[in-house]
Amino acid sequence: MNCIFCKIVNNEIKSDKVFEDEDLICIKDINPQAPVHILIIPKKHVEKLHQIEDISFLGKILKVAYKIAEKQGIKESGYRIVINTNRDAGQSINHVHFHLLGGRIMHWPPG
Ligand code: 5GP
Ligand code: ZN
Repeated sequence: MNCIFCKIVNNEIKSDKVFEDEDLICIKDINPQAPVHILIIPKKHVEKLHQIEDISFLGKILKVAYKIAEKQGIKESGYRIVINTNRDAGQSINHVHFHLLGGRIMHWPPG
């Protein structure tokens, strides 16, 4: 399949990994939008958030995210988790992923 994130999961494209287990890979974003910008990517190819039916898996992802926030030293200063879905939200890769951002002051509403 011609999917960048599947290729990263399969080690066909190099990435800077911060965490990996049987279900997930967590890598540094190639074009970081904050001092900490990690992508949490389910290994299984699913395109959209609303196609994930296993609610407990979503909970696991959020727990991995806040554990990484802790390890990266942004738990107390602040962190943001973003899931862009479809065109209006700016999803550019059709393999569901969670952005973990922190290390600077962020604005609201997001752009
Ligand atoms: P989206 O716009 O779909 O929410 O997020 C896709 C993210 O993947 C972007 O932040 C982009 O910088 C990142 N990205 C795209 N290609 C690569 C890559 O080859 N390696 C890594 N580490 N990140 C990538
Ligand atoms: Zn994929």
